[in-house]
Amino acid sequence: MSRAHNVVRESTEALRTGVAGEVFVPGDPGYDQARQTWMLSVDERPAIVVEAESAADVMAAVRFARSYGLRIAPQGTGHGARPLEPLDSALLLRTSRMRGVRIDPEAQTARTDAGTLWQDVTAPANEHRLAALAGTSPVVGVTGYTLGGGLGWLARRYGQAANSVTAAEMVTPDGQLVRSDPDHEPDLFWAVRGGGGGVSVVTALEMRLYPVPEVYAGVLFFPLQRAADVLHSWREWTTSVSDEVTSVGRIMRFPPLPEVPDQVRGKAFALVEAAYLGDGAAGAELIAPLRLLGPEMDTFAAIPAPALGQLHMDPTEPVPGLGDGALLTDFPAAAIDALVALAGPDVDTPLISVEVRHLGGALSRLAPGAGAQPTIDASYLLFHTGFAPTSEAAASIHGHAQAVKDALAPWHASYDHYNFAENPVTADAVLLPDSYRRIQQIKTRYDPDDVIISPHPVLPVLAGYTATKVVTRWS
Ligand SMILES: Cc1cc2nc3c(=O)[nH]c(=O)nc-3n(C[C@H](O)[C@H](O)[C@H](O)COP(=O)(O)OP(=O)(O)OC[C@H]3O[C@@H](n4cnc5c(N)ncnc54)[C@H](O)[C@@H]3O)c2cc1C
Repeated sequence: MSRAHNVVRESTEALRTGVAGEVFVPGDPGYDQARQTWMLSVDERPAIVVEAESAADVMAAVRFARSYGLRIAPQGTGHGARPLEPLDSALLLRTSRMRGVRIDPEAQTARTDAGTLWQDVTAPANEHRLAALAGTSPVVGVTGYTLGGGLGWLARRYGQAANSVTAAEMVTPDGQLVRSDPDHEPDLFWAVRGGGGGVSVVTALEMRLYPVPEVYAGVLFFPLQRAADVLHSWREWTTSVSDEVTSVGRIMRFPPLPEVPDQVRGKAFALVEAAYLGDGAAGAELIAPLRLLGPEMDTFAAIPAPALGQLHMDPTEPVPGLGDGALLTDFPAAAIDALVALAGPDVDTPLISVEVRHLGGALSRLAPGAGAQPTIDASYLLFHTGFAPTSEAAASIHGHAQAVKDALAPWHASYDHYNFAENPVTADAVLLPDSYRRIQQIKTRYDPDDVIISPHPVLPVLAGYTATKVVTRWS
């Protein structure tokens, strides 16, 4: 057991009595459950875990960590835990008990406590015919997703979730609870909107909602053998659609697991998934050219906005996931052929899903008063994932994923998306250069001792030079 573990064990009693939530150190019953993230492929052993129940608990935990020289890793669900550095000498600050949501139908806004999941917001918002800028999974945390940008089914029309945040409350590394909005703490307000979680611990977010009671959305399933044909047609189709359409072209090998629905269990498909902000008649007309390709299954229908949470078929229970992504400047015919050659019908691959998301629309326009991700400077986003219960499986997935990335290197943008980079890279690899420079200044001002740990670290500017750190867990 490390020195940090011993020091913490002796000092935790005061913290236990000072918080409404729970505190765990190694050896405590409940420690293993408290440290477990949604990503079962991650095995962190923090010096201490605090499950906060309130902003006051977060303040107490931050002050405790500072007094004992521990760094702090804020975490909601652990969906984004893969790139985190080892937490052996850190305090894992879980917010999963803080799941409050308040919808203001008049103002068309939501206020979410730090541990809120998207499904906690989309259902009550829909009661007022409003939609939030949720991602594809209903059980991803609002906070982590939004801090990393937040690309969902309404993205080409309304942009990233981060740029719809109107205020954030947070505990700064010196233990103060502050509110940030355009008129208060503007630097912190800018940083939380897309710059990741590296400068403070967020306790609540406030965000705009949009009048979207219903969408026309669904999935076209084609046999995997038709992957090239389907992806070429989908890509061509994306060049003509309006900002009301956000879509994904995908190759999917459904695992033979009991929790996977019968119709797709153990089978492989080329898919087109899309959501259209409009009525069924216009939607049907819109997807007619893709329907003409003759899908084997077609689930398109008018659905309530919260049902978008099922469209992408993300697992809702924890999995040993291993994925990574890349922003692409384009996805032309040669890129499609390269992708199909490595993930299509003629190969044996452990990649369960290889998807390409269509960007552009509002994502390519400067959002007024935007935060750290003012635009996305790319037209498509590649993401691939597999299940890695063992290190051999992880190595195999990593090899296949890297081959796909290498083949698409000619179209790789100059940086990647914060939320879809699951490799441990620093934040300069997942933010535009101007944004990285500004967030570095903010980190230096608010967290000069680099107390807050984040998946894509921002390195404070040290006196006289700019620190660089290359993290090489996989390479
Ligand atoms: C199945 C799946 C589907 C996904 N779909 C999408 C998608 O459609 N669009 C998209 O953009 N992304 C998507 N992602 C990526 C996801 O948005 C990121 O992994 C995100 O970080 C998850 O946030 P979380 O709070 O659930 O995870 P966590 O692992 O709990 O948090 C991730 C990071 O966010 C920061 N953070 C979390 N809470 C706080 C806090 N209170 N204060 C300060 N920092 C905090 C921390 O740096 C933390 O390490 C998906 C991921 C998965 C696994």
